[in-house]
Amino acid sequence: MSGNAQFIGKKVSFHTLGCKLNFVETSEIGNRLINMGFEIAKKGEKADVCVVNTCSVTEVADRKGRQIIKQMVRQNPGAYVIVTGCYAQLKPDEVAALEGVDLVLGAHDKFDILPHLQDGLTKNSETIVEHTKRSEIKSFFPTCTRGDRTRYFLKVQDGCDYFCTYCTIPIARGKSRNASVEETVQQARIAAKEGAKEIVITGVNIGDFGKSTGETFEQLVRALDEVEGIERYRISSIEPNLLTDEIIRFCAQSKKFVPHFHIPLQCGSDDVLALMKRRYKRQLFADRIHTIHSLMPNAFIGVDVIVGTNGETESFFEDAVEFIKGLQISQLHVFSYSERPNTFALQIPGKVSVAEKKRRSEVLHDLSEEKRIAFYERMIGREALVLWEEKRTGGKMHGFTDNYVRVERPYDRSLVNTITSVSLGGFNEDISALVAIV
Ligand code: SF4
Repeated sequence: MSGNAQFIGKKVSFHTLGCKLNFVETSEIGNRLINMGFEIAKKGEKADVCVVNTCSVTEVADRKGRQIIKQMVRQNPGAYVIVTGCYAQLKPDEVAALEGVDLVLGAHDKFDILPHLQDGLTKNSETIVEHTKRSEIKSFFPTCTRGDRTRYFLKVQDGCDYFCTYCTIPIARGKSRNASVEETVQQARIAAKEGAKEIVITGVNIGDFGKSTGETFEQLVRALDEVEGIERYRISSIEPNLLTDEIIRFCAQSKKFVPHFHIPLQCGSDDVLALMKRRYKRQLFADRIHTIHSLMPNAFIGVDVIVGTNGETESFFEDAVEFIKGLQISQLHVFSYSERPNTFALQIPGKVSVAEKKRRSEVLHDLSEEKRIAFYERMIGREALVLWEEKRTGGKMHGFTDNYVRVERPYDRSLVNTITSVSLGGFNEDISALVAIV
């Protein structure tokens, strides 16, 4: 550790909201501060520096961000408070106006914390705002950091060029960009040396990897497969139009790329997909699911859906539900539409009431639970390889199979971060996992 005398022993506290990418980026900021001499504040311990990494995917996310910032300021009197992330990028003045905030860094400026700390941790008389405009957001560097659990997260790409009508990410995170395959793979090699067993490949629009370097996501997948020491890769959310048959075929024969896919459908109605300006029709989605199933019959397929976007009529919703019912998928991640400033969706007529959004969300949550339970039931009695995680809950530990079934067993410290073969028994008490027969 290099360290910096003025920071040795100082405590830093983090709070992260939003997507996996934000969590990866918080870990990276944490690593950098630890290298400067900081220590992570334990629960209940007062921090000298507080970092809030915000999200702005919905109005609720903005509100949560404000609540957390106020709470951090209250619980850590005199601490130097830094706010970054998408909310800070989209509404820097709103964030700067909050009592006790010292530094606001836009989504692209979040790694610029250190230069601001070099002058010490004295609270500013005026809030400093550093905020790169979207058009100027260009740089990118890949990172691979350990998440809260056993898995590592490899950030391979940032930004998005798609401009789906409801989405604010392209405004907050800028154009799609990535580092080269070689630079990215180097991060995985470093993680392997640290003892990483499983890496989750993350980004905003990961299938777009390679656009800024003249390479492709498939080339990255093939190169990562060669890294010694890493036993599993999971591809996180990937647009269906970018999840090509070649990538699916490669995953099917790879020993490292697991049979687990997370694909955003967003809506099962072609009319709504057109309003959303998504780049596929539902038939393409159904074809992708079919290809995955024909090659990997036990693959777990998680699907994102949004309910209640402007223009989603009752009949479009019913049509979408019927379509989703017919898909061989394992789980839905259901989001309720939230109006975001500066997005085209605001101009689409046909607002859905809050009560109706709630109803539609419940319909899909129920369908999701049916699909997950059916998928888990199919796995009972099989042998599976489980990577065990560190967390202990009521004498139990949990892990995931390669095809993303959550498994429970009595806690055994020696198993943490190891992969063992188990026989899958029935459901645990709250049916959130299958019990390993030990
Ligand atoms: S693909 Fe669409 S929904 Fe996803 S980040 Fe890009 S604009 Fe947003």
